[in-house]
Amino acid sequence: MSETRHTRLLIIGSGPAGYTAGVYASRAMLEPILVQGIQPGGQLTITTDVENWPGDASVMGPDLMVRMEAHAKETGTEVIGDHIQSLDLSVRPFRAEGDSGTTYTADAVVLATGAQAKWLGLPSEEHFKGFGVSACATCDGFFYRGAEIVVVGGGNTAVEEALFLTKFASKVTLIHRRDSLRAEKIMQQRLFKNPKVEVLWDHSIDEVIGSSDPRGVEGVRARHVKTGEVTEIPCKGFFVAIGHAPATELVKDQLEMHNGGYVKVQPGTTKTSIPGVFAAGDLTDHVYRQAVTSAGMGCMAALDAEKFLAAMDGEDIPEAGAYAAPASGPVSSPESAAE
Ligand code: FAD
Ligand code: NAP
Repeated sequence: MSETRHTRLLIIGSGPAGYTAGVYASRAMLEPILVQGIQPGGQLTITTDVENWPGDASVMGPDLMVRMEAHAKETGTEVIGDHIQSLDLSVRPFRAEGDSGTTYTADAVVLATGAQAKWLGLPSEEHFKGFGVSACATCDGFFYRGAEIVVVGGGNTAVEEALFLTKFASKVTLIHRRDSLRAEKIMQQRLFKNPKVEVLWDHSIDEVIGSSDPRGVEGVRARHVKTGEVTEIPCKGFFVAIGHAPATELVKDQLEMHNGGYVKVQPGTTKTSIPGVFAAGDLTDHVYRQAVTSAGMGCMAALDAEKFLAAMDGEDIPEAGAYAAPASGPVSSPESAAE
């Protein structure tokens, strides 16, 4: 049955940014509603060991997210298993429609919708998705026991996926388009030491090849980026690990974006181009993209929202765009901060 729920603060997303915003907003007595989306717990639920979350030398990603959810609930966040299908930021209160049929209205919103896996964009990749092509080793690695696997990518995710897949595979070939990885050095060391791993440098993927009946991957065709020479590598599983794109579908025509589609925030804050709308985590950060930085931004978003709501109680709401960074002024973004 459809219903309308009003809240002072609606948090959209249940990764480290969303849950941390929930903890801080609850402790500020804002009684936030947090909508989890289709991936409760966010990206860390599809990984195994997380070794850089302060306080835990090693923790399983899914376990960490269960703890974060429990913490948010414990402090008073109402966590709802729903997915926001549309969000109208042109009205006050803001209005969000959930897949469940519930309409959420909110005086302020924290956007923490994170990022989603990128794909190569090949028709053959699309054809074999779910039939040997995957973007999640922890979800699908088990299906390839004793088989050969190819992973494409050169970042932390690709290296982590490749190492994880050695638990199941007879051999893992990591294909990268350059001659050096961008993954952390410690991860690279582990990769190069693993006898099941072979790295194919300077190659891009031309095509995923396979059978049609039953549908299944049989290999990939890789091309040397300098010589153009084509090599066929047999595999049963092909894992795409080439990064993630910000999940901005809800707001892409409503908020200012930058750096190829990340939500733009005012320097040093989580304020977007619409007052009362705050963005945190991978959705707005194209540089750091870590659990701990996302959690940090979730904290900032809740504190920014608290100030906004306190001001709203006593004053007029600033005009849309009032928080946008001046076009000619200095802009500090994750990008400039990292320089
Ligand atoms: P996410 O974790 O991406 O969560 C986004 C949330 O938004 C999800 O809950 C989703 O359901 C929700 N959502 C999206 N759209 C909607 C909608 N329309 N309605 C409602 N909800 C919605 N970082 C580290 O620091 N250490 C690591 O070891 C590490 N390992 C990683 C391993 C892998 C395989 C991957 C993919 C990433 C890893 N990262 C790691 C990066 C880390 O996971 C991210 O930086 C972090 O999860 C980002 O948090 P977030 O809260 O911004 O968003
Ligand atoms: P990433 O760091 O952006 O790396 C993406 C990799 O894929 C790059 O090596 C890139 O090549 C390659 N690539 C991109 N597009 C491609 C294409 N079309 N064809 C072939 N290759 C392509 O992404 P990520 O590895 O998913 O990591 C995302 C963020 O999460 C990072 O900040 C990372 O540190 C973090 N993370 C951390 C951990 C950890 O701390 N253990 C684990 C996983 C992820 P180039 O190198 O040539 O650009």
